[in-house]
Amino acid sequence: MQTVIARIEQAVQQAAAATTPRLLAVSKKQPVERLQSLYGLGQRHFGESYVQEALAKMAQFGSAEIVWHFIGPVQSNKTKQLAAHFDWVQSVDRMKILRRLNDQRPADLPPLNVLLQLKVGDEDSKSGAQVADVLSMADAAKGMSRIKLRGLMCIPPPSDQLATQRAYFNQAHQLFDSMRQKYPDMDTLSMGMSGDLEAAIMEGSTMVRIGTDLMGRRD
Ligand SMILES: *Cc1c(COP(=O)(O)O)cnc(C)c1O
Repeated sequence: MQTVIARIEQAVQQAAAATTPRLLAVSKKQPVERLQSLYGLGQRHFGESYVQEALAKMAQFGSAEIVWHFIGPVQSNKTKQLAAHFDWVQSVDRMKILRRLNDQRPADLPPLNVLLQLKVGDEDSKSGAQVADVLSMADAAKGMSRIKLRGLMCIPPPSDQLATQRAYFNQAHQLFDSMRQKYPDMDTLSMGMSGDLEAAIMEGSTMVRIGTDLMGRRD
């Protein structure tokens, strides 16, 4: 954990970034003991990609004050469980999912924190919405009382070139900045993983999602 924190801090300094991004520990396919040891070190935000696996881990943690983020592809038959058990859903990429999450968020919980997943890069990637769809979802979210639109998330195509990585992240950064005037609750730009966190921080990331380099290789 210290190594990853040191990398983040160094990138923040080099980029002269205004704020240090939050560290989201990506714990998918990791045994619950590994989450518990990070919890012991003070980590509170965890990201999961598979609903059933995540619910099992939540049950084992009991009432510990963890903030759970869903970061995997969302199937519409899973939105009810997401709305009931997660604090954040970062991977909202179509209107139908946004509507269902709003309809299904239980009344006794605070509004669900949502990030809209933007498709970046030219690649025909499976997930993420085009800019026009992101904008129409953001407009629709204004009228949804059970949704709190917190920002954008992106997963660019893999590249080992810093300049290419930055160009991808810059697309998200530009859109994020232009949307913030209109949507004042937007404070989160979730981007950067083990292989590209430096580039993401240079482009204004406020949350990096780190799995492998924080928790080791997944099964
Ligand atoms: C798995 C995953 C990560 C973490 O990736 P690492 O390369 O292991 O750091 C981050 N974001 C999403 C959406 C993921 O699915």
